[in-house]
Amino acid sequence: MAARLIDGKAVGAAVRKQVATEVAGFAEERGRAPQLTTVIVGDDPASEVYVRNKHRACEEVGMRSAHHGLAAETSEAELLELVERLGADDDVDGILVQLPVPDHIDPDRVVATIDPAKDVDGLTPVNAGLLAHGMPGLVPCTPSGVMELLRHEGVELEGAEAVVVGRSKLVGVPVSRLLLAANATVTVCHSRTRDLAATCRRADVLVAAVGSPRLLGADAVKPGAVVIDVGVNRTEDGLVGDVDFDAASELAAAINPVPGGVGPMTIAMLLVNTLAAARARV
Ligand code: NAP
Repeated sequence: MAARLIDGKAVGAAVRKQVATEVAGFAEERGRAPQLTTVIVGDDPASEVYVRNKHRACEEVGMRSAHHGLAAETSEAELLELVERLGADDDVDGILVQLPVPDHIDPDRVVATIDPAKDVDGLTPVNAGLLAHGMPGLVPCTPSGVMELLRHEGVELEGAEAVVVGRSKLVGVPVSRLLLAANATVTVCHSRTRDLAATCRRADVLVAAVGSPRLLGADAVKPGAVVIDVGVNRTEDGLVGDVDFDAASELAAAINPVPGGVGPMTIAMLLVNTLAAARARV
């Protein structure tokens, strides 16, 4: 294998360590630690695991966290009322409603009800708009984790050809905006892109956020490219990314493994956002 391994676990741990130091300073100054409140509606086991990991991560850096577990039959109005109440609660710095929510609830309406100043997932229309306008706001955690990995690798983005595969509100679009803000030349691919491999092969920086196991093979990787694989796909061989890791690592200059790449960064950046949200509130 020729490629350097991008170690999200190590970079994530370094970010968390830095956050822990800053949380201690914040707590000393303000007399309280930042507080993240999570909400789950229903009993999706994956959501339970994700949220438990987020609470553990908060605890490890000295942040406080609270949780509201609501029954699956909770009405949209009840959920919106809770989200509004958390927005008005001075003790809450960050609000995270774990998605998906049950079918009778409109996730867009729920997200739009979150106070943008406490929107640590960076998904409200206000924060998405600020990002689109290149203005400061809370940035979605996975995309900012991708950027942190690129920063840590010392990747020169200015003028680089960046190709993002995927255009979701959660990952693809915000990653492309961040790359653009870093002065890369950005192409965004999606399910209707005509020649995906040829487009990807142009990339100095290739970011895959699709959700399709090993979609991108050797023909999609330019020799010397930096590859960030956001995808997490459960297969018979275990968890794999959207990139064929073995094939791509013969060509790329650097690539992250899955798992152990972007996942650990997502949680680390959630802590960064919660601290930033707490700091921004007087
Ligand atoms: P999503 O909302 O399902 O979006 C997938 C995107 O991929 C869409 O824009 C879709 O295009 C595009 N796409 C689908 N098939 C394609 C194909 N054959 N060729 C080109 N593009 C194609 O998914 P997401 O939420 O962005 O997540 C993407 C992946 O990242 C998933 O594997 C998810 O598990 C993973 N993820 C990981 C983390 C982490 O922390 N590691 C966090 C979030 C997500 P259209 O828009 O045309 O449909």
